[in-house]
Amino acid sequence: MRFMNFISSLLTLAFAPKGSTMNQANPFNPQPLPGIKNIILVGSGKGGVGKSTVSVNLALALKNKGKKVGLLDADIYGPSIPRMVGCLNQAPGINEDKKLLPIQRYGLSVMSIGFLVDESQAMVWRGPMLFKAMDQFFHDVKWGDLDYLILDLPPGTGDIALTIAQKLKVAGGIIVTTPQNISLADAKKAVDMFNQVHIPQLGFVENMSYFKAPGSEEKIQLFPKGELDAYLDAKQIKKLAEIPFNPNVSLGSEAGIPIVESQHDSTESLAFSSVAEKLIEKLG
Ligand code: ADP
Repeated sequence: MRFMNFISSLLTLAFAPKGSTMNQANPFNPQPLPGIKNIILVGSGKGGVGKSTVSVNLALALKNKGKKVGLLDADIYGPSIPRMVGCLNQAPGINEDKKLLPIQRYGLSVMSIGFLVDESQAMVWRGPMLFKAMDQFFHDVKWGDLDYLILDLPPGTGDIALTIAQKLKVAGGIIVTTPQNISLADAKKAVDMFNQVHIPQLGFVENMSYFKAPGSEEKIQLFPKGELDAYLDAKQIKKLAEIPFNPNVSLGSEAGIPIVESQHDSTESLAFSSVAEKLIEKLG
């Protein structure tokens, strides 16, 4: 029966008209996850645009505003969150109910496939194993009470978003892109994917938006501005922030100390803080 439901959901997705939206009846029956107020999906379309960086720093910005926050690295093809928060090679504990205990780091509850399998093994996770893994992340992890669970999706794929949207009530999705049209082309697919699985669009984060050399106010476009703003206007999707390119962001990721943790007053941290404020204003 569950298999038939799954097939029917896949067919719904496959034959949904392009651009179909959440106004249509939701064929799924998503349920809230007890104890978790808001599940936020962070997607991108393209890899390498800063989706994990945004997930980590947004989670910290929400925590800095007094929220209880979990961070789930669902990027099973390239789990980078353990490295970004300085938790490589840590193994989650297990409680007496056989639930996995998230790693506590910087005040966040963190879980990643990278804690459970070797980084190189994660690549071969497919189909049923992948769905089982996602299910376990939600039901076999002792998340406790959270205001926000930030979920870093793998790039591009609809599989995981579909699995989640079928089962769990999601507060909304954020899409990360860089300014140029090459990234936008894939980000549009992520918009369609969220629409097709009835996930509300919370907005875009434009990452690596520009670069300012030290001591200069001139904004240099590392990537050419494409049609992102016009697209967002036409679709009535918000741009939540423009995050500049700053080598300190990537240095922080390499070192396992995210910029929101190490440089509270940087332009980048303030931009993440404003995204957190917008989410709190909308979702509480
Ligand atoms: P994705 O999750 O989309 O694959 P990542 O978050 O892993 O992307 O980011 C890709 C690389 O770009 C990482 O090395 C990261 O540190 C770097 N990066 C992301 N955002 C910025 C930024 N605003 N400034 C500088 N480097 C960044």
